[in-house]
Amino acid sequence: LFDRVELAPADPILGLTEAFVADPRPEKVNLGVGVYLDENGKLPLLDCVRDAESRLAADPKPKGYLGIDGSPAYRDAVRSLVFGDGADVLADGRVATVQTLGGTGALKVGADLLRQINPSATVLISNPSWENHRALFTRAGFRVDSYRYYEPALHGIDIDGMLADLRSADAGTVVVLHACCHNPTGYDLTPEQWDQVIETVRDRELMPFLDMAYQGFGFGIEEDGAVVARFIESGLEFFLSTSFSKSFSLYGERVGSLSVVSESADAARRVLSQLKICIRTNYSNPPTHGAALVTAVLTDGALRRGWEQELAAMRDRIKQLRRGLVGALEARGVTDMGFIAGQLGMFSYSGLTKQQMIALRTDYGIYGTDAGRMCVAALNTGNLGYVADAIAAVRSG
Ligand code: PMP
Repeated sequence: LFDRVELAPADPILGLTEAFVADPRPEKVNLGVGVYLDENGKLPLLDCVRDAESRLAADPKPKGYLGIDGSPAYRDAVRSLVFGDGADVLADGRVATVQTLGGTGALKVGADLLRQINPSATVLISNPSWENHRALFTRAGFRVDSYRYYEPALHGIDIDGMLADLRSADAGTVVVLHACCHNPTGYDLTPEQWDQVIETVRDRELMPFLDMAYQGFGFGIEEDGAVVARFIESGLEFFLSTSFSKSFSLYGERVGSLSVVSESADAARRVLSQLKICIRTNYSNPPTHGAALVTAVLTDGALRRGWEQELAAMRDRIKQLRRGLVGALEARGVTDMGFIAGQLGMFSYSGLTKQQMIALRTDYGIYGTDAGRMCVAALNTGNLGYVADAIAAVRSG
């Protein structure tokens, strides 16, 4: 049987990391994967997480199964964070929330539910989008198309194209929207543009699926979460996936959530019952540790304040790195990449061509995606000059 199994291509992003690890050059830089690294090029362990971990270790608990939908305390903490403490929509019982294996797990559980309730729907993702959006929804059984989003000539969003594509979609089409810090481009919709998208989604009876993997990396926790409030205000039904991988630097713990906002408490109950079947038949129930850490931090005043400060420090440092890169490029005669400073989140769509990205990799050991995406959050004062030298060289070469 296995004779007939084809060798699959490496994952486009994680494959880059494999190539990076195998690269013997000491000066190599991994700007491929979306991970925030500190000034020493190391993955940070947040102080709030370290403290929460000590508290949990001081009072060890037996390792029982969680419920299918996860830890109730975790779900409450997440719901307060993303919908607001005591939000009407929560009090009305209109939101079904489950703890998931990171943001990816949330997307897949949501995709499986959608496939069950609307199997013939098309899924629209932004062009471009996080590589795994297309793969994940395709694997869940959907036809995946894209809506216009990034316009290279504008170094921004083609909002007219985006709205036109949404307008021509069939009713029931699932529209995957990046809530903030768009991956890979770093360009987000303005509040006015969100309103236009919401109106179009309503008119065309589309099903929005908000993916929020970077809350707090754009302007702040509340500011970035404002888009969720906008959707609530609109009264639309929608899906929301969230992740603490980046905002808590808890990548490997796989901590995320899926919320489905419905028209009524009765619909939310039925949705939750189906979500539980998706989970039960897939991995049965989620792991305990990461969710316990996040719950401890979000529900303790001092730990939470600490987290907010640490998240703000990551956000501010990324902005500094963006400005630093632009300045270093200008000092090397590259004066047309100032747009990098205005992009949001971990990524920069650099505008570099595939050939230039390959040259960065082969000649300098600097790894970004072929489409020109670079993770700015992996820069530091030690490698920034080298990266700017290399970009200036491939631009002139
Ligand atoms: N959505 C987007 C847009 C992402 O960039 C990512 C992470 N790269 C995810 C979802 C998934 O996050 P997680 O690692 O928590 O599964």
